[in-house]
This record gives sequence, C-alpha cells and structure tokens, in this order.
Amino acid sequence: MAKIQKSVEIIDVGPRDGLQNESEILDVSTKVAFISKLCDAGLKRIEAVSFVNPKRVPQMADAEEVFAALPVDDGVTYIGLVLNQRGLDRALAVGCKEVNYALVASDTFSQKNQGTTVEQAVNVYENIAAEAKKSGVRCSLTISTAFGCPFQGEVPAEQVTRLVERVAGNDTYEIALADTIGCAVPSQVADLFSAVMEIAPNANFRAHFHNTRNTGLANCYAAVEAGVGSIDASVGGIGGCPFAPRATGNVPSEDLVYMLTRMGIETGIRNDKLIETGEWIGEQLGHAVPAMIGKAGVFPPVELEA
Ligand code: ZN
Repeated sequence: MAKIQKSVEIIDVGPRDGLQNESEILDVSTKVAFISKLCDAGLKRIEAVSFVNPKRVPQMADAEEVFAALPVDDGVTYIGLVLNQRGLDRALAVGCKEVNYALVASDTFSQKNQGTTVEQAVNVYENIAAEAKKSGVRCSLTISTAFGCPFQGEVPAEQVTRLVERVAGNDTYEIALADTIGCAVPSQVADLFSAVMEIAPNANFRAHFHNTRNTGLANCYAAVEAGVGSIDASVGGIGGCPFAPRATGNVPSEDLVYMLTRMGIETGIRNDKLIETGEWIGEQLGHAVPAMIGKAGVFPPVELEA
C-alpha cells in the first residue's frame, strides 16, 4: 500500500462501450443528455462516441450528430473510438480532441472483430497515431483481450508486453490493458501491469475491466495498487460483451468511486450525481442497472438537503 496514489482518474465509457453493447438504441438527444449528466457529475474524460462503420455498429451510427451537440467545456475531453483512417478523418472533421484505437492482442479475435491480423492492426494504429499527432489530437490505445481471449483462451503476458513495447512512444498518449471478456483476476492484473510498466516506464497506463465474472472491482483495486492512474468504468455498469452472452458490462463507475473515496483516493467526481445518472440511464434502457451503490446507498449515509 506504500506507493498508492492520492488520486485516480476515472474515464466513463458508458456512452460508447456501454451503449454499444445494449440492445436498446437511444436517440441523439438522450445520448447528449446522458453525456451532459456525466459532465455535471465531474467526469473530465468521457468515451463519447465511436467513428466505426455504422453498418457494423448501428448503436453508434449518429456519432457526428451526438458530437456536435455535446456541451462545450475546455476541461472535458470527449474520446472517440476509431479503427481506421476513415474513422480518424470523421473524428478530425467534428473536432474530436482525443481518439482511441482498439488493438486486439490475439489473432483470431482480431480477425473476427476487425478483419485484420494483429500485425496489420499495429501498422494501421501507427499510421493513425502519427496522423493524429500531426493534427494535434491525442491518440490512445486500448489493447483488447489482454487478459484472456474468447477464442484463443489464455493470452500469454509476453504477447501483451511485446505489443506494448511496439506501440509505446511519442505518438501514443496512453495505453489501456482491457479485460474485454471479464475473465481477469487481481493477481494477473498486478503482474501484467508491473510487466508493461517495466517495459515502458515512461508510458501512461489505463485499466479497462468488465465485471462479467464479478472480479471487476477487485481488478480495479489491483490496478490502482500497481500504480495505474486511470481507470475506465461505465455508470450503472451498463453494457455487455457480444462474445459473452448474458455478461454484464464494465465496472460500475459509482461503485468504483465509492471504493476509491472510502480508501482516501480522490476522483473529483460527485457520486450522488453519478448514482442518479446510473438510475436515469437504466430507465432510458428499460432495465435495472447492475451497479450496487445505487441500490444500497453510500456509507456513511448522507442526509439529503431539503
Ligand atoms: Zn470494454
């Protein structure tokens, strides 16, 4: 516990990773209201849209319209997912200031998800990162299936560290290790983050967990203890995974904020507003959200102001 940090940045990925994996498709104004509520709760980085082929991801087809209607706040960064040059062009056209590319760690999943080998994807990423830098846009990278693959099974740590070694550099703002199918356990999280931090000591790292097997929050703790300063989460824990039917979504942001706050780690987020947003988005999606704090309430209980 000696080196544990005083503050952790939470990136809410609900509007993209969450909504993309929900069956209910929300309209533009509901999406904008959703993201505005997250801003109001104090989120400073939000994965807001995805500039991928709308035929493949109909939930995200209105990325441009959503982006154009978002509240303007210099302190808030809206992240757009891009998977190719076309996506980057769309992101640049709307003035997106940070793009995130998803690189899959295992070949079979990469082929199925993006239609490329890992090697080809690294080349695509390098071009995108260089182009983004030229345009003054931050480029981050998420390494998907870093802790396990639905097709390959176990993903050896070397497979991930080799990729990190390739992509860590000037053009990369931050590298996330993602547990796409929610199979990671805390000891694995600690080991893998320690390994990549040793390989790329100057890189910024982010953690991305799904709570599919109920290890999400424990994995966040392990990541924080390993020195990771940024964690993805989705309010309400919305989302899922197309490769794991009936799976739950990301780690619920409000549960993570509760844990960190009680540990004395600052997030800059107002959890009462986040809890409200979790309940609200559940209403929009037509189902209760998996987050626990919205059900149980915070501790110690907070008297609501009259
Ligand atoms: Zn995810």
